[in-house]
Amino acid sequence: MNIALIAHDKKKAQMIEFAKEYESKLIQHRLFATGTTGKLIGENTGLVVHCFKSGPLGGDQEMGAAVANGNLDMVIFFRDPLTAQPHEPDVTALLRLCDVYQIALATNYETAKLLMESL
Ligand code: PGA
Repeated sequence: MNIALIAHDKKKAQMIEFAKEYESKLIQHRLFATGTTGKLIGENTGLVVHCFKSGPLGGDQEMGAAVANGNLDMVIFFRDPLTAQPHEPDVTALLRLCDVYQIALATNYETAKLLMESL
């Protein structure tokens, strides 16, 4: 599967924890991430991640294009619901496209864990 990993800044530590916990599963798939999230996952695990631009600089839109083009099967997006994001419209657009194209989408750790167990 092609799996996308994205985390807002206050959720990046949680994303690294998640990537470590499920490294043995994730390594069997093609991984994509927004710039900073992907860099951190690469530095903290043995996973190879294809990085898009940083989210606020267009990475979420690149991710949305990948969904629209049929190039992503699952999106794990640890959102920070307590902090305003300058690129909120891009975030909303990405989540919308996941629903348009029926892409498996987790926006918090517990749901992401369930998706991992289903792999
Ligand atoms: P980042 O982007 O991984 O480059 O920080 C995430 C986001 O969409 O905020």
